Amino acid sequence: TYRALRVLKDDSGIRPEIQTLPSAELPAGTAVVHVSHSSLNYKDGLAVAGRPGVLRRYPMTPGIDLAGTVLADETGTYTPGDPVILTGWGIGERHDGGYATLARVDSGWLVPAPQGTDAVWAMGIGTAGFTAMLAVLALETHGLTPGDGEVLVTGAAGGVGSTAVALLAAAGHTVTASTGREQEADYLRSLGASSVISREEVSGLTRPLEKERWAGVIDTVGGTTLAGAYAATRTHGSVAVCGLAGGSDLHTTVFPLILRGVNLLGIDSVTCPTPLRCAAWDRLARDLPPARLKGVTQLRGLSEVPALADEILAGHVRGRTVIDVQR
Ligand code: NAP
Repeated sequence: TYRALRVLKDDSGIRPEIQTLPSAELPAGTAVVHVSHSSLNYKDGLAVAGRPGVLRRYPMTPGIDLAGTVLADETGTYTPGDPVILTGWGIGERHDGGYATLARVDSGWLVPAPQGTDAVWAMGIGTAGFTAMLAVLALETHGLTPGDGEVLVTGAAGGVGSTAVALLAAAGHTVTASTGREQEADYLRSLGASSVISREEVSGLTRPLEKERWAGVIDTVGGTTLAGAYAATRTHGSVAVCGLAGGSDLHTTVFPLILRGVNLLGIDSVTCPTPLRCAAWDRLARDLPPARLKGVTQLRGLSEVPALADEILAGHVRGRTVIDVQR
């Protein structure tokens, strides 16, 4: 048997419930993983709180991230005991995810845990930190170099934002963190932000072309925040678009694209191809080793997830939350 947080749907509505299930209930897949830890992302908050759009079927085990050790792999790629990480590929959405002590998945979705890391580190990163890494890599691929000037991170005190601040600082960039939570300014400076600005300072930039300020942007908020950041991006600068914590609309003009050569870059962690995944995890292990990640991470139990889901949706969670699925 295994223990899982299931999201159920019946006449009384959608609700999460911790259940003990026979292993035969696991979905199809080529590898079985003994899961020790998962994490809490914004998307998991939506799934557990019963919001539409994330879970494709019920009942379903949410959790878009998992880390643990391989128990069996039909493909022979992994040996029992190998430490592995899995983020995205639809787990916790269309295939049972990480909020369970066992997972049966496609072996090709797994990546080996980098040397010298453990499951708590991997889930301290999770989809949020992995996405931040993809965003930094995208900015760098489009020419961002340390010394170019201010790099803006929006929604900075959240999971993607916090790791983006730390990763950019580790790579030598000058980071400006935008947050709606003034009280998190010291936290953001401790992660490496050189300056902290309010949400309104970005969302208040409403002209089609604003004064050029940012050499690069990592946006997790969307809406008027993204529109403002994009309008104030410097010539040939880039904006990595990651999220919609503040809204999915985007009302703007083409002027920054055609008059400044600004690059609008889409980031999708779910379908990221395996070679880029492995490169991103190796860079994460180098730039955000366990000691540097500690300040960003809190460790909680599986039974706490329903309450945490409400907190993350309300924008009250700081940094990253690792879930110990065994307790
Ligand atoms: P999170 O921890 O909740 O962080 C989101 C942050 O956005 C909050 O901490 C808050 O930061 C800010 N925020 C929240 N509500 C806001 C509002 N109404 N207006 C303006 N700012 C607001 O969530 P996360 O896990 O980091 O995810 C962030 C976003 O990225 C989500 O939309 C998520 O779906 C998306 N995402 C996308 C991918 C991808 O592959 N593209 C992967 C992971 C996540 P402050 O308090 O600092 O202002």
